[in-house]
Amino acid sequence: MSKTIFVTRRIPDIGIQMLNEKQYTVDIYPKDSPISQKELISYLRKKPYDAVLSLLTDTIDAKVFDAAPSVRLYANYAVGFDNIDIVETKKRGITVTNAPAPLSSEAVAEHTIALMLSLAARIVEADESVRRGKFKGWAPMHFVGTDLLGKTLGLIGAGRIGERVAFYAKALGLKIIYTDIARNERIEKKYDAVFCTSPEEVLQKADVVSLHVPLLDSTRHLINEERLRLMKPTGLLINTSRGAVVDEKALEKVLREGRIGGAALDVFEFEPKTVPGLTKLQNIILTPHIASASVDARNQMAEVAVQNIIDFFDGKTPKNVVNA
Ligand code: NAD
Repeated sequence: MSKTIFVTRRIPDIGIQMLNEKQYTVDIYPKDSPISQKELISYLRKKPYDAVLSLLTDTIDAKVFDAAPSVRLYANYAVGFDNIDIVETKKRGITVTNAPAPLSSEAVAEHTIALMLSLAARIVEADESVRRGKFKGWAPMHFVGTDLLGKTLGLIGAGRIGERVAFYAKALGLKIIYTDIARNERIEKKYDAVFCTSPEEVLQKADVVSLHVPLLDSTRHLINEERLRLMKPTGLLINTSRGAVVDEKALEKVLREGRIGGAALDVFEFEPKTVPGLTKLQNIILTPHIASASVDARNQMAEVAVQNIIDFFDGKTPKNVVNA
């Protein structure tokens, strides 16, 4: 029997074509903005949908499940799935999948490295000064940055993305240390990464700290003020994971006080808002949650998310079930 799918925002055409080829009925939220929970509920009440292709900007919890009892699958178009109440889905026997496309990990790792190089070479501040007409000629002490060769990169979380960041960092001549709840022998063998038993050890030893953990109760504010103060005064912090892994107010404070060298954030605790004062700082680079935003990554994410839906309705276990 044909299935009816609700897609909460336009995704790359390749994913929609796959759904059409299966002759599913596909309804796409028409606006180019995140759907509010109220609107999502009102759409889901219109038809007995079988599955929802959701985004990380959608809050999916008991209110949505109550409104849409026919929906058996939420296929999230993202690696993270902290926007979905997983405990509640388990109680109700609803399946949730994510979309860990290999090219998405690659894009996030490349973005992380781009942020690291931009911070070290002060690219954004320097660009802004030229645009503002402040370039008055070469000067010996103008925008002096940080050397990276031989410095230490500390990874907090060494899963798919952390591992690819290690690959690029090793090629740039950085030493790698990491912490994770599970030891990753592959990055130790391939990239000479050295395991640390705690985030504290990484924060103290690394020149650049990069965060690659999922947002869980155990990782919310993992990087708090006390831990930020363990970093070297020249230390650089990069967050391309989830905003709430860092206590953003505490980060603003330590940056303002010059207690650490700088930070680059792709994700924010109160997305799309930033905490007061953050955008006024010079020693920070801010990108609007675009780390996976490359053409190939986004197309592959669409394929992975949709393949999970197709497998589910073909009676196979989808590859990326996250709440089994
Ligand atoms: P992954 O599951 O492959 O790796 C996460 C790693 O974190 C695992 O090795 C896990 O053991 C470790 N971990 C979990 N809890 C920990 C803890 N308390 N302390 C230390 N380590 C812990 O995930 P991934 O594909 O590498 O993605 C990581 C995160 O990046 C995602 O969960 C997502 O939130 C985020 N992400 C962001 C973007 C973006 O656009 N900025 C894109 C993709 C993913």
